[in-house]
Amino acid sequence: NKPPDTKKDNTLSDNQTTTNPPVSKTALYWLRRDLRLEDNHALRQALASGLPVQCVFVFDSNILNTLPPTDRRLGFIWQSLREIQDTLRAAGGDLWCETGPAQDVIPRLAAQLGADAVYANEDYEPYARRRDTMVAQTLATIGKTFHAYKDQVIFARDELLTASGKPFTVFTPYCNAWLKKLSPQHSQALTVPPLTGRLRPPAGTPAMPSLTELGFGQAEPCLLAPGASGAKELFADFCQQRIQRYHQQRDYPGVKGVSYLSTHLRFGTISIRQLVQFACFDGGEGAMCWLKELIWREFYQQLLWHFPDAATHSFKPQYRDLPFPNRLDWLESWQKGLSGYPLIDAAMRQLNQTGYMHNRLRMIAASFLVKDLLIDWRLGERYFAEKLLDFDLASNNGGWQWAASTGCDAQPYFRIFNPVTQSQKFDPDGRFIRRYVPELAALNDQAIHAPWQAKTLPEGLKLGRDYPLPIVDHAKQRQLALALFGKQ
Ligand code: FAD
Repeated sequence: NKPPDTKKDNTLSDNQTTTNPPVSKTALYWLRRDLRLEDNHALRQALASGLPVQCVFVFDSNILNTLPPTDRRLGFIWQSLREIQDTLRAAGGDLWCETGPAQDVIPRLAAQLGADAVYANEDYEPYARRRDTMVAQTLATIGKTFHAYKDQVIFARDELLTASGKPFTVFTPYCNAWLKKLSPQHSQALTVPPLTGRLRPPAGTPAMPSLTELGFGQAEPCLLAPGASGAKELFADFCQQRIQRYHQQRDYPGVKGVSYLSTHLRFGTISIRQLVQFACFDGGEGAMCWLKELIWREFYQQLLWHFPDAATHSFKPQYRDLPFPNRLDWLESWQKGLSGYPLIDAAMRQLNQTGYMHNRLRMIAASFLVKDLLIDWRLGERYFAEKLLDFDLASNNGGWQWAASTGCDAQPYFRIFNPVTQSQKFDPDGRFIRRYVPELAALNDQAIHAPWQAKTLPEGLKLGRDYPLPIVDHAKQRQLALALFGKQ
């Protein structure tokens, strides 16, 4: 029952891992949330074994069975895998795809392909941790080993702790410690040698299942260019056009100001090391502000690692049993973008139509669900988890608990966003609202944030018929939220 062998320091030289090389004919590299072949820690280590490498992806039925057949993430994953398959084939190998429970498939494949060792990059989510422990245990029973490497973050697990050896639960000191510990080595690319001549020959590789065969023939279109090529293009565009102004523009959803790289980070089609290295090299105000966002991502990952219960419970114990009224008709109006608050509705429609929502809007829409509609944050979290292309348990849970004031954030529960003033501030000319709520497009820049307060409306527009009246009164709901949280 050997636990996964974890190489915590990504600066380890290849020599250190080859002192005890596996004695199999194949090394198995298992792709999960690292869908790229460059700057990839586990792939590099598999190749360093000196054995022909077989790259494997499992469409894990434990996960697939929980997804609706329209899930647009499958398209992103599938197309990213096709790109990997093309590269592997060009180098004389192939991608081996299987469908089934990952904890069974991987040990079976290792036996079938004569691999004594399985290489993978670490995944810190509670399900992934349980799965990897099971895989490692099953492999051990048949005399095989599981090697897991840090890849998707710069610092993982307990690499960063407070002076008293405890996990950080407050962002600013975590961020300072992160920046202090960062050395050029940490963001150095982990070069993968050329693949030609180093891969297991393709004989016997099963055909990759189509999306229809996987049960996702109805998947909604994914509007984001997938794969490492899509990530590269997006990153280049961000670096050339926007990173310098990121700190000024990032809060305005109507402006193209952010990187839109979250889905690529989620699925590992781009390396975090590359992004951090670029930000540090640039060093400007925009780049440093952006680097901080990348650190938020790591902050939430280490929080979930240390406090896996936060995935299902409020981080602050006093808010575990808040008696939310949970009006399901209000939940539905929020989900559909029919709350009567234009910016909230535009945000939810952006999510429904594209699988993405701007960060400022995630904060406002989440606050509105919890503090205005008095609905349990976990219901909102679940909806985002279903719809977001970039859904990441750590960031989503962290973001929701932040907005709900149930998380580790120091801000008290009486931070309640006003959906109208937020709209006036961050979408001043209503550009974003007009894009997603076209029925309000003809309203002027003042009226568009709160149409029910307008003295006159454009001809032909009737509130309650063409666009809803607000389902709640913000001022009244705010008082109810204060009372609900204040009683705890
Ligand atoms: P950029 O502004 O370009 O930032 C660069 C990267 O930094 C992002 O791609 C992301 O990886 C990371 N990042 C930025 N902001 C945050 C943040 N607040 N927390 C953690 N990481 C951050 N992000 C997800 O990746 N997946 C989620 O499921 C998710 N759910 C969220 C739910 C709520 C309620 C909130 C408030 C935030 C959530 N976020 C989530 C964080 C953030 O909104 C997105 O990462 C960001 O909007 C993605 O757009 P971008 O790639 O253009 O970001």
